[in-house]
Amino acid sequence: MNANLYALFASRFPKDRQACAIETHDGKYYSWNDIERASAKIANLLAGLRLQPDARIAAQVEKSAEALILYLAVLRAGYTWLPLNTAYRAAEISYFIDDAEPEVVVCSPQNFGWVSQIAFASGTRHVFTLGDDRTGSLLTRAALQSNSFDTVHRDANELAAILYTSGTTGRSKGAMLTHGNLSHNARVLQQYWQWQPGDVLLHALPLFHIHGLFVAAHGALLNGSKMIFLPRFDAAEVIRQLPRATVFMGVPTYYVRLLAEPSFGREQCSGVRLFISGSAPLLTDTFHDFAQRTGHTILERYGMTETAMLTSNPYQGERRAGTVGPALPGVSVRVVDKEGKPCAAGEIGDIQVRGPNVFQGYWRMPEKTAEEFTADGYFRTGDVGRFDEDGYLSIVGRSKDLIISGGYNVYPKEIESVIDELEGVLESAVIGVPHPDFGEAVTAVVVLRDGAGLSEERVIDTLKQRIANYKVPKQVHFVAELPRNTMGKVQKNLLREQFGKR
Ligand code: ATP
Ligand code: MG
Repeated sequence: MNANLYALFASRFPKDRQACAIETHDGKYYSWNDIERASAKIANLLAGLRLQPDARIAAQVEKSAEALILYLAVLRAGYTWLPLNTAYRAAEISYFIDDAEPEVVVCSPQNFGWVSQIAFASGTRHVFTLGDDRTGSLLTRAALQSNSFDTVHRDANELAAILYTSGTTGRSKGAMLTHGNLSHNARVLQQYWQWQPGDVLLHALPLFHIHGLFVAAHGALLNGSKMIFLPRFDAAEVIRQLPRATVFMGVPTYYVRLLAEPSFGREQCSGVRLFISGSAPLLTDTFHDFAQRTGHTILERYGMTETAMLTSNPYQGERRAGTVGPALPGVSVRVVDKEGKPCAAGEIGDIQVRGPNVFQGYWRMPEKTAEEFTADGYFRTGDVGRFDEDGYLSIVGRSKDLIISGGYNVYPKEIESVIDELEGVLESAVIGVPHPDFGEAVTAVVVLRDGAGLSEERVIDTLKQRIANYKVPKQVHFVAELPRNTMGKVQKNLLREQFGKR
């Protein structure tokens, strides 16, 4: 059997190949036939370049239907897909291209000058361009190719993609994912979230990250479901398109921004059967406000680039605020103490995972890879959490963000939750900064609601009445907003840099 992920998708395309697979915000339609033929053309172009069998094809392109078709073409041709964040500039692109050594690079037409210079200097053989308006050399060259292509045979353990992690805690690492990893996760999610005939996915996420590509787009492709493609998240546009969709996926900030729109409510959501959140913690306030405003309970799930999805709140059954639900079928998730012994329910420890979805290792980082796996084959996620009595997992934070103050472990999330409840607070981030006596001092960075007049003293005094003294921040800084990366994740390393100097 051909384990090529594209072969799996193609076997699930709907019978009516003229049906719409992708509709863009500006009214372009792509049928399943279009996807099949356009990906064949690009696959033929790539196959004609006589690349090494393990060639990486890197792409830094704006979101478009063609960008997704390019990804599918790379799968079909049996090469390794390597998407790059569109926000990256020369220094970053240079790092990734030197690290991954792609034989082919595809970039936006307006970036051709500097990207091709970096790519050719690093040994890339071909640089193509692809615009979000069907312009660029890739499509011009592909147009001359045949529109049929026999999807290359791939075994389940062969590489399909190298996805770089978001770089929230440091330099991004290339996670090597196989056709087997990705198809296993896609199949599990299809069943678990009960994808149905007639589903329509409103797709507002970027395509270079696991969330938009492997969770959202794979879900629709495997189910033969139409996607409505938005170039980026825009609350007004999402509100306009939602009535035509049944499934929506987003990072927590999307939900916060939707709720900030006074016009958003039950009316636009009446046809939606599932709202999913992930990539960063969903505040319980957002969860409850959303339920009150729309009547929908957001389903929160947890995963990472290295492992795809790991846990999810149930489709049927209770979706619990502040938790990411139980382990997905076929995935083994455990919480262990420092000695590696399993923690009891309610106890906080390191989250480790194992399963057919877990990656093959970090690209060209064998030592780092070896460090992150236990002797019995579990991957150390770097996240800290706890299971409740019913097997629902809560993420308390990342082990790198754990604060040790005066010998006590302080979990930032616990303190953030208390600060967030204070009148006038919009959100907060708690970090540890070096301290001569305590080792690290608990420090809070707070964003106030408009017009709120909360002082450092008030925050500290109020917290002293609510939590143990060693957890109370020694300092509180007020900022206009928290630094976030494209996936809506708070970059605590930047806060530590900014507020860590004494
Ligand atoms: P890097 O590994 O480069 O520092 P990153 O970990 O942010 O960046 P991703 O692979 O995009 O890169 O994100 C995975 C991480 O996102 C998880 O390890 C976890 O910390 C966080 N995460 C994902 N979903 C959730 C969720 N529902 N709640 C809390 N955290 C989540
Ligand atoms: Mg990570």
